[in-house]
This record gives sequence, C-alpha cells and structure tokens, in this order.
Amino acid sequence: MDPSFETYQLTDEHNALREAVRAMAEKEIAPYAAECDEQERFPREALDALVKSGFAAVHVPEDYGGQGADSVATCIVIEEVARVCGSSSLIPAVNKLGTMPILLSASEDLKQQVLPSIASGEAMASYALSEREAGSDAASMKTRARQYGDNWVLNGSKCWITNGGESSWYTVMAVTDPDKGASGISAFVVHADDPGFEVGGKEKKLGIKGSPTTELHFTDCTIPGDRIIGEPGTGFKTALRTLDHTRPTIGAQALGIAQGALDAATDYVKERKQFGTAIADFQGVQFMLADMAMKIEAARHMVYVAAARAERGEGGEGDLGFISAAAKCYASDVAMEVTTNAVQLFGGAGYTRDFPVERMMRDAKITQIYEGTNQIQRMVMARSLLK
Ligand SMILES: Cc1cc2nc3c(=O)[nH]c(=O)nc-3n(C[C@H](O)[C@H](O)[C@H](O)COP(=O)(O)OP(=O)(O)OC[C@H]3O[C@@H](n4cnc5c(N)ncnc54)[C@H](O)[C@@H]3O)c2cc1C
Repeated sequence: MDPSFETYQLTDEHNALREAVRAMAEKEIAPYAAECDEQERFPREALDALVKSGFAAVHVPEDYGGQGADSVATCIVIEEVARVCGSSSLIPAVNKLGTMPILLSASEDLKQQVLPSIASGEAMASYALSEREAGSDAASMKTRARQYGDNWVLNGSKCWITNGGESSWYTVMAVTDPDKGASGISAFVVHADDPGFEVGGKEKKLGIKGSPTTELHFTDCTIPGDRIIGEPGTGFKTALRTLDHTRPTIGAQALGIAQGALDAATDYVKERKQFGTAIADFQGVQFMLADMAMKIEAARHMVYVAAARAERGEGGEGDLGFISAAAKCYASDVAMEVTTNAVQLFGGAGYTRDFPVERMMRDAKITQIYEGTNQIQRMVMARSLLK
C-alpha cells in the first residue's frame, strides 16, 4: 500500500479550502439562516462574510482581480455554504452563473468592465434567460434587442431572476433576429443603472426565501454597443454552454443542503430517546442514515467529476453536457430524498421550524427545478446518448 497515492482524491488545497469555508459558514452564516428564511430577507450578513473572506466569487480569474479558483474549488465553496444556508449559497453560485457567459464569450474590454467589481465583492451578477412563457423552451423568448446607432435597445420582461434587485450586473438573452429562432438570440450585459431597466415583482416562494427571485423589465432600455457578449446570434449557444459549466454548481448546492440535513439528523437520532433507548439504536433508523450517506457520497463524486471535466474542457462540449446534467439531476434528486428522510427522522419535531431540516427540505426542491428541470436534464442526457 502507498499512502501517498494521489489518484482520485482532492488536493490538500481543496481540503484546506473546505475547512476554511466550513468554519466561516458555521460562525457567520448559519446563525442567520432561519431568520432570513422566516423574514424572507436577503442574507446581508452572509454577503458581508463571503466578501470579507474572499469567497463571494472565487471563480473570477486573477487577470480580473479574482482568485482564479478552479471549478471544483468553486463547487466546494457553494457546497459548504449550502450546508448551512441554501439561500446564501446562491451568492457564489449565481455570481458564477451571471459571469460565465462573459467569461466564455465576451470581449476583453467587456470582461474588464464587469469582472473586477464582481471579484472585489462590490457588485453581484445575475443571469436572465427565462421568461414567464419561455421556461423549459427558453428559445421561445420574446424580449427584443435592436441596434440603434452605437447602442442596443432592449424591450420585454424576464422572470424568475435569482438575486434580482441585489445584483448590479445582469446577463440578458434577447432576440435580435426573430426569423432565425435560437440563432437569432444574442446575449447582453445590462447594468442596474441603465436607463429603461427596472426590477419587477418578487416571487413568494416555498424555499430559498432569502434569495430574491424577481422579474426584470426593459422599456427602451439603452445600453452601449460594446455590451453585447460575442457576435449577434451567438447568445443562445453561450447561454447553453454556460449551463454546462454551472449545472455542477447546482449539484454542489444540492449536495450541501443534503449534507446539512444528514448531519442534523445524525446528531438528533443520538439524542432522541424512545422505548428507553436512543432512536439511533434501531436498525430501521440506521439503514435510513446509511442510505442517505451512501447517496450523498455518490452525488459528491459525480459533482466533482463534472466540475473537473468542465475545468479541463475535456471531451468536447457534448460530453460535458451529459455529465453536467447527470450531476445536477442526480445530486438534486438525492437532496430531495435525503432532506425528506431527515424530516422523517426528526418525527414531529422535523415538521416544525424549531429545527433546520424542514427549511432544508423546502430549499432542496428548487434544485430539481432551476437551471433546467430534471426532466430537461434527462432529455439532455438522452440526447447525448442517442446522438
Ligand atoms: C426560485 C427560482 C429561481 C430561478 N432563477 C433563475 C435565474 O436566475 N435565471 C433564469 O433565467 N431562470 C431562473 N429560473 C427559471 C427556471 O430555470 C425555470 O423555472 C425552469 O427552467 C422551468 O421553466 P418553467 O418554470 O417555465 O416550467 P415549464 O417549462 O412550464 O415546465 C413545467 C413542467 O413541464 C415539464 N416539461 C417541460 N417541457 C418538457 C419536455 N419537453 N419533456 C418533459 N417535461 C417537460 C417540466 O419539467 C416541468 O415539470 C428560476 C426559477 C425559480 C423557481
């Protein structure tokens, strides 16, 4: 046996990062998680703590003032924050989602305009693809962008935008040539101060209540010509390539929520006594814990493998599509199952807001829905298998 065998394990740096984020999250984010959920308020304490410790947008490359963390490291940050607060984990996750189209396809000048403010924590980014009538079928969007002189002018509305109203920068997909279908969609960067931009109504949600989900309205919203991401007509492709890179981060969020629920349940069953003994002594309880931990472990491997393959750009975009969809889909299904079983292991107490597991169960549900529902993930996987 060789204790220095390094294949198939995280690096010392990744493990040290996990320790640092866990310590910070337990001390500075966990104490506010229930309150932010209850009051449906943005986790300001979490944002401050993430910015102060440099974990709000670790993925931004060093060239733009960031830390240049790899995709696995970014997943670890999101996972550890989600372990204590699903809403707060959307700060690093959506900063990556909102900036990924820029990192993948924007001009150097546009990268320099946007990314340093995200890296410093002065600003956050959101991603605006969905519309009320264009969800799974995102290419049927109606928001229009037209070129007038040196500017682009946007009209229409987006909905379901995570961290809407909190972010300063919005990556917005809009139709520039309605005759060309998905090839007539372009991607733009809109700033909250741009004329004609307005944040609309906030959704009343089942979970992730600390993270605002809003509409965005564009009424002759005028932005400089250089705020287009890549060439006209490439926006939908950029939007989908982005999701290939960010679905592992939703897998990481799901994983963190599931781990938080398992940890809480493991502690509880050792304390709670029935029939004269700790309920942890019952094999029926032990088997539930074992299944929960087993599935979390499998999900963790899949999420890290997907993130590592995204980082390497390995196997072409088609293959990345499969593993990213698989990681997001599997980890989120596991999170839903594990959090539901955690509530079960708490019995009646699990159904109350006195313990965090009911919040975790509500927060887990969204991971099966956004960045493409799990039916859509299965379509992506099947398409890759059958091509
Ligand atoms: C809290 C929250 C945050 C979000 N954040 C963002 C964000 O930041 N940016 C953004 O752009 N979007 C965001 N979204 C939107 C999200 O990505 C969409 O809600 C999701 O893609 C589903 O679209 P829809 O809600 O229109 O559902 P629909 O597309 O109407 O789907 C309804 C049901 O039909 C199923 N279905 C649809 N088509 C098929 C098919 N072909 N085969 C099988 N089943 C199918 C779906 O799986 C689902 O079960 C967010 C949503 C929520 C709820």
